[in-house]
Amino acid sequence: MIINIASIPEQGIKFKAEEPGEITGLGEADGFRIAGPVSCNLYAQVVDGVLVVRGKLSVPVEARCARCTQFFSTTVTDSGFLRDFPGVEGVEEVDITEDIREALVLSLPHSPLCDEGCKGLCVHCGKDLNDGPCGCRRMEESGSWGALNSLKL
Ligand SMILES: [Zn+2]
Ligand SMILES: [Zn+2]
Repeated sequence: MIINIASIPEQGIKFKAEEPGEITGLGEADGFRIAGPVSCNLYAQVVDGVLVVRGKLSVPVEARCARCTQFFSTTVTDSGFLRDFPGVEGVEEVDITEDIREALVLSLPHSPLCDEGCKGLCVHCGKDLNDGPCGCRRMEESGSWGALNSLKL
């Protein structure tokens, strides 16, 4: 996103803009798929030769669940975006694309979960346990809980 310094009034300006989701540089290798454009809801002002940009950024993504590895839809948001660009006197425009990218990457969830109660994958056979139990889980249970089960019987 290019900010045109001359177009900013003294009292600052509020503006909305969209940037292509691709500017985040995120891909499936990172566990994310971009699902739409980056929405920027920003306020820009020049104070004593310093461009200050603040506001909210968000981008819809599909994130890979840290437990079941399925992709699910979510939104990455930075509601406290704030950057200073000093020395903009006599400068025509400032490109803040890299700052937007960085802010969104820093706002990514570290271990995204499709659901708090996601059961994940069986460590033995890899079956998605959200779809129901697998055979080896039953075997494991009858092994460790065998004594208890026979007591119940
Ligand atoms: Zn999951
Ligand atoms: Zn299993």
